[in-house]
This record gives sequence, structure tokens and C-alpha cells, in this order.
Amino acid sequence: MRRFTCRTCGAAVTFSDSRCPSCETHLGFVHEPGDLLPIELVDDSSYLVVGHQGPPDRWWRCLNAAWGCNWMVPTGDGAVWCASCRLTRGRPDESSLDAVRAWSTAEAAKRRLVAQLHWLGLPIAPPSAENDDGLVFDLVYLPESVGVTGHRPGVITLDLREVDHNFREAARQHFREEYRTVLGHLRHETGHHVWRRLVVRQGALDEARALFGDERADYAAALESHYGEMHDQTPDTRPAAEFVSDYASVHPSEDWAECFAHYLHLRDGLETAAEFGLDTIGHDGTLPSMLERWRELSLGVDEVTRSLGQPAAYGVTIRPQIEPKLQFVHDRVSAVARER
Ligand SMILES: [Zn+2]
Ligand SMILES: [Zn+2]
Repeated sequence: MRRFTCRTCGAAVTFSDSRCPSCETHLGFVHEPGDLLPIELVDDSSYLVVGHQGPPDRWWRCLNAAWGCNWMVPTGDGAVWCASCRLTRGRPDESSLDAVRAWSTAEAAKRRLVAQLHWLGLPIAPPSAENDDGLVFDLVYLPESVGVTGHRPGVITLDLREVDHNFREAARQHFREEYRTVLGHLRHETGHHVWRRLVVRQGALDEARALFGDERADYAAALESHYGEMHDQTPDTRPAAEFVSDYASVHPSEDWAECFAHYLHLRDGLETAAEFGLDTIGHDGTLPSMLERWRELSLGVDEVTRSLGQPAAYGVTIRPQIEPKLQFVHDRVSAVARER
């Protein structure tokens, strides 16, 4: 994440702030170019974004502003929702406060996903006449359901119970995971979505199959065999060395999506560390250099959170056997970003 400063008073502000905590200036996030700037109300509903260069000169706050969205929408856009909120197709209605709170927390994680993908040159947008690779999100709160989180072509579904710490922690322990977060789910499911753009359309299927296995393998059978085996194992079994997580070993598609998610974790983690002066060495933009820094930094960050009495923030070991897969993700992302 980038580091932002209040343009009015110079205090540090963060990506999710809609007001400067120091001088109380109202702030709005402008998705393009990706900056948090002071906003001023000019009439009943439209705003001036102070310091924004170029058109447009009038903005709306996203219609979800009351639910914590701080993104701005150009008034000429013909849209009432921002570039992140307009990706949401399904959400809970306002009859359940718990559901709406969980939804707004998930939207905050989604804004991080949308901003990062944009900055990496992999933007996502709803389907349209110009976009045959559209994506929408169904953020659903179904307390009685079995897990619904997953991906179908063009649709990511998130089970909003994942926002609840107790629910997520119980699932994390049950599935023997080191790491389980809402942002992690969104990054993982996005990995499934971008498979076509990054691998199939880039003519990289053979290379992908050599690294991850054949993604045409029977999914249901793979899942059953994995979870059948899992119940026979001791709870502290670590994932096999060539997998970034236990779930990655279920099926080649899951291995790809897990590697894509961890690639986004390390890119965001490294960027944040650099922006906040926590990484004084830096990397040269190649994957081996990034991994070297990430191993050092994530170890340090995990020890800092343990020093504060909290569990490890990341807790994942990127072993050497995983590097070729992450290199492949990095190469595919870089190739698509260069095309733009
Ligand atoms: Zn301020
Ligand atoms: Zn919004």
C-alpha cells in the first residue's frame, strides 16, 4: 500500500481514511492515479477534489460513502458507485445489521484488491461491451449455509461470515492453514479469474501444466481425496514442500490461485514496507530479489506481531520449491502489464 499524507496539515493518513484524524479535512480516494486528496463540497452533492490534476472538475462521493467507502466518482461517469463498489453484484439488504457490517468490512478489503490490481497493470471491471473479461462479486451472508466462497467464470462469491474472527479462526484451524483472511480469499479467487487472461490467452498453458499439474484433473475427486486424507493426519502436518499451503495441494487450479494470492501478498507487503521506510535495502524488481526481501521482512513482521502478543501476521514460509511457480506468476503478470 502507498503512504498518504494529508495535503492540508501534513499528518499521515491511510488508504481507508475519509477524514484526516489530525485536522479533520474530508478526504476522497481518486482511483486514477491512486491518491487520497482533500475534498470540498461545492453544491448539494458534488465535490471538488483539491489538488487533482486534469479533468474532471466535479466529483461525487461513492454511494456507499455511508458504509465506509472513501472513493470518488467523476460526475460525468454516469455511475453512482466507485470503481470498486460497482463490481459488487450481490450484497445483503439492510434488514440485518450484522450482515451489513460484515459486507462493509469485506468492501474495505476489496478496495485494497482493486487498487493493487490496478497498480500492477491487471485492472478488473464488470462485464461490458468493451470488456469480455468482466468480473462481479457476490458478497453473501447466509448464516446457515455451508461455505459458499468460490469462483465461477466472471463471478467471485465471498461468504461474509469470513469477516467474523471466530468463524475464520475455527475454519483456519479445521483446514490446518497458516494464513486465512478476507483479503486473502479475494486474492485467491481473483487468481482463478485471471487464469484465462494471464495463462490461456498468453499461450502459457504448457508451461503452467509443467509447474502446477494439469488443471483439467477431476476437481470433485481431488477434493474428496484430499479431505479424506486430511482426516487421517495429525493436525500439525505442514504442507508438502512444493506447496505454499495445504490447500494448494488439492488441485492444480488451487495451487495456481494460492501462488497468485501469495504473489499479491508479497508485492503489497514489500510496497508497504518500502513506503513506510521499513525496508531500507529494497529490491531490483526481479522475483528472486523480491523474495529475498520478503522472507526477511515477513519474518521480522511476524516476530513483531508475536512481540505484541498477537499471532504471526503472515506465518507462511516460502520454500525454494515454490519459487519457480511464483516466478511464473511474476512473468505472466509482468507480460500482461507491459501490454497495456
Ligand atoms: Zn490533516
Ligand atoms: Zn465505493
